[in-house]
Amino acid sequence: MTEFVSALDLFTIGIGPSSSHTVGPMRAAKAFKDELQSSGKRARVARVAVTLYGSLGATGPGHGTTNAIIAGLAGSTPETCQPEEVRAANPEMLEFELGEFDLQSRTRLERHSNGMRFVATDASDGLLLESVYYSVGGGFIEDEQGPLGGEREQVDMPHNYQTASELIASSENLGITIAELVWRNELALRPSEEVQARLEKIWSAMVACVESGLATEGTLPGYLKVERRASKMTRGLWDRAAASESAAGDQSMEWLQAYAIAVNEENAAGNRVVTAPTNGAAGIIPAVGYYAREFRGVSDETLARDYLLTAAAIGSLYKRNASISGAEAGCQGEVGSACSMAAGALTAVLGGSPAQVENAAEIAMEHNLGLTCDPVGGFVQMPCIERNAIAAGTAVAASRLALIGDGRHKISLDTVIETMRQTGLDMSSKYKETSMGGLAVNVVEC
Ligand code: SF4
Repeated sequence: MTEFVSALDLFTIGIGPSSSHTVGPMRAAKAFKDELQSSGKRARVARVAVTLYGSLGATGPGHGTTNAIIAGLAGSTPETCQPEEVRAANPEMLEFELGEFDLQSRTRLERHSNGMRFVATDASDGLLLESVYYSVGGGFIEDEQGPLGGEREQVDMPHNYQTASELIASSENLGITIAELVWRNELALRPSEEVQARLEKIWSAMVACVESGLATEGTLPGYLKVERRASKMTRGLWDRAAASESAAGDQSMEWLQAYAIAVNEENAAGNRVVTAPTNGAAGIIPAVGYYAREFRGVSDETLARDYLLTAAAIGSLYKRNASISGAEAGCQGEVGSACSMAAGALTAVLGGSPAQVENAAEIAMEHNLGLTCDPVGGFVQMPCIERNAIAAGTAVAASRLALIGDGRHKISLDTVIETMRQTGLDMSSKYKETSMGGLAVNVVEC
């Protein structure tokens, strides 16, 4: 038996703006509601009190956590909810009284910094149920016993790997791509038709998110009043191309950045996005894939399968051996991981060998090490949106470097993942999704 992180759990269709602060809390609230239901106590609930700890207490309101929890208590799930209904969620839609959210930003529960405590009482204030959940990044949740839902499914896999070196060795020994190896593992969990259909749905949702962001103007939610710019970039790029195609030169990098900004603007607006592997970093993998389609001739079919499965293989290494949570590892865990996943996956669909894929993923993370999380005002907007655009460029550059070489290099992906883990442990909590340091305290709010 081995611990396997499925691509279908790593990439989930949900809503913005945050996988750990919106998607995870909604799942936790829904799990609490289900627990009340299955224990037969739901009808007696008069009041529910919710406490948010650590980074959830610090930046939860700016990340839509409270609305997501109300929607979850009402029965919504990230996969099926309507984003506009979550944005409008309020306690009146519940069948019981909801106490004021207790924000304990300076208290960190032992298991993880994104803790949530739910307490249900009856009309006489008698305790009915008390549960603690943790939002551990990427929309995954745990309780005191461990992961909930489909995460880290414990099954016999045809191809076990815990590290990048094991993954590459297996691929090379079998003479198959990383994507094929992951595909065979996925089939141990689900029929091939289901895996294929769900991967296509995920890629289609990524494409729809890019295109929706490119076509939408306006101001993002929150007092920062950040103007959307992906649509303006699009118009500018078309104008330049129309004025003089030759003078415009190669605009592929500008388009790549517009794709990433488009997705992250959709995310910041609380719209439908794919967690990849988190929401704050949701723009990088779709942008690099869309770039591969538009500028490198890669088909949607290849992107839905080989690109996503290769990215998932790399993402599972980060999730298993380090962290994809900004609250645990800073932004290197979110944007750094996504950049590394995209770099390796792009290399794969451009014909790179498993060793070149590993090299690209390593290069991409190496230059994200130490990246802090410091969202201004607690909104997933500044620096997050632009950071995705820059990281998408880094992913493409890392892939190009790796494809020029033969895959041999000094620093392994495993070494970089372990370095990221250690750097995350050493990082002050001010730089872990608390908005208590960095840009968050140096940008004047007006
Ligand atoms: S700074 Fe990075 S880790 Fe922090 S919220 Fe923004 S994208 Fe997520």
